[in-house]
Amino acid sequence: MFHWRADILPGVSAAFTDAGAGNLALHVGDDPTAVRSRRRLLEESIAVAAGSLHFMNQVHGNTVAVMDAHSPAPEADAMVSRGEPLAVMVADCIPVLLAGESADGPVLAAVHAGRPGIASGVLPAAVRSMESLGASRIRAWMGPSICGSCYEVPADLRDEVSALVPETRSTTSWGTPALDLPAGARAQLETSGVALEYAGPCTLETETLYSYRRDHNTGRFAGLVWCHD
Ligand SMILES: [Zn+2]
Repeated sequence: MFHWRADILPGVSAAFTDAGAGNLALHVGDDPTAVRSRRRLLEESIAVAAGSLHFMNQVHGNTVAVMDAHSPAPEADAMVSRGEPLAVMVADCIPVLLAGESADGPVLAAVHAGRPGIASGVLPAAVRSMESLGASRIRAWMGPSICGSCYEVPADLRDEVSALVPETRSTTSWGTPALDLPAGARAQLETSGVALEYAGPCTLETETLYSYRRDHNTGRFAGLVWCHD
């Protein structure tokens, strides 16, 4: 069910699911009842209340939603909370989980960082939002995503994105233009003063993870961050 799971701060855990947890997205043509029951199983396995895990309607933008217990699913690509459990869904984009400390307890974030998100700065925006809630000593855990040796793009798209985030400029293992989104995310986190604690493997090269580039008709795995006793 989990590709990776760890306690990241006192009372805070993070995880990235794998295909064993099944598809967790409602927008990919799967049976919604089955998706909802998989989300319930996931909540049980991390011991959070049923229905308390917040998912977002991800739109490849840079909007950050500050969530409380009663917030509906936002149209956003980043959520920030003072301990409310958060989830981000991906299949090649980078799921980034962040946690910081504040006088009022932990501040959490879950970010969907794909090509448009990296280009438009969704990660620095999420960090600023966490800081506005008083978070300091912010650290980041980057889950599995397509790597810079696999993510082939047209040359003009590579030029467009690498003009904004130079670290993304890459070449595939077969010699064509590519983007290295994890390198871009790493650079943006560093510039924002955030320490990177973990980076996952390549989704396209890992059969137990969903990859949109490998199998177009595919599910989504999730990054999760939550508080516990
Ligand atoms: Zn790869």
